[in-house]
Amino acid sequence: MLIIPEREIADLMTRDAAFDAVSGVFAAMASQDAYNFPVIREAIGHEDALFGFKGGFDKTGMALGLKTGGYWPHNMEKHGAINHQSTIFLFDPDTGKVRAMVGGNLLTALRTAAASSVSIKHLARKDAKVIGMIGAGHQATFQLRAALEQRAFEKVIGWNYHPDMLPNLEKVAAQAGLPFEAVELDQLGHEADVIISITSAFAPSLMDAHVSPGTHIACMGTDTKGKQEVEPKLLARATVFTDEVAQSITIGEAQHAIAEGLITQSDVHQLGAVINAAHAGRTSDDEITLFDGTGVGLQDLAVAARVVDLAVKKGVAIEIDF
Ligand code: NAD
Repeated sequence: MLIIPEREIADLMTRDAAFDAVSGVFAAMASQDAYNFPVIREAIGHEDALFGFKGGFDKTGMALGLKTGGYWPHNMEKHGAINHQSTIFLFDPDTGKVRAMVGGNLLTALRTAAASSVSIKHLARKDAKVIGMIGAGHQATFQLRAALEQRAFEKVIGWNYHPDMLPNLEKVAAQAGLPFEAVELDQLGHEADVIISITSAFAPSLMDAHVSPGTHIACMGTDTKGKQEVEPKLLARATVFTDEVAQSITIGEAQHAIAEGLITQSDVHQLGAVINAAHAGRTSDDEITLFDGTGVGLQDLAVAARVVDLAVKKGVAIEIDF
């Protein structure tokens, strides 16, 4: 069995490798060569923690396994450890024997950033110049860094519920040599060609009336029942894509538009179908496209499998007899 500790991941995984891994697994999901197992998420009644498993099997990448993930709200204050903790386990699909245990914290951030990035590659207008960020927390910086590689963006604009966090975005923009402007939501929706929302909000920030025709929106924060980032009417106006339809309509941004009867399940398309050219994706410069990125276990397995290969190549995988 191989162990790839969290401390090795930053030197092994690149944004490009994460992009390829996530793009590949979205394509495999759409061609039904990969599927996610039902998600388990439990409040364990200790330390106010939430703990769960996300698993799946990808026949094309031969990745079988699961990510254990959880949220321990008091970690930082009590132990100086980050509150989100995850570990990925890979198994040999031929024998069921455990193949690898991989640190999952940085990989989660990279695979989530890769998802919105893949959506921008396939759905945003080619001439997109302004990217608008809603959210400025831990994950927002990863989303922005990855997104900037997909189009020749000239400017970053941003809004956050806690404005004191906006310098996080400004720093990433500056590293890419781009100007940053803090704006109100109506200006953000009006100016941005691409919008990424990545907040932990339970009520919409971005309204339908804010958004100009031709925009691509990646809604990445809503991954649980009750969370919400955009007005449901916006999903009715947009062509809606997702990583996994079942999650999108139950725990993703689409849950609200579905509940209000504004769209139906058949209005939600897999991004993988666009990658496979089975869906045309964007068909005009005026069309609004919206990616509902809910986060699936197969993304974690795909990036973990990539890291294991890289670690073996570099000789940094720890091998134990198990
Ligand atoms: P974080 O705590 O670092 O940042 C939270 C962000 O939400 C901040 O910008 C904060 O200002 C904003 N926010 C908080 N309360 C708000 C409110 N009431 N209205 C509007 N904005 C509010 O968290 P993070 O690690 O950046 O994660 C952000 C979200 O992304 C979380 O909901 C997380 O569960 C989700 N997430 C999704 C995926 C996926 O695959 N889709 C993966 C990882 C994280």
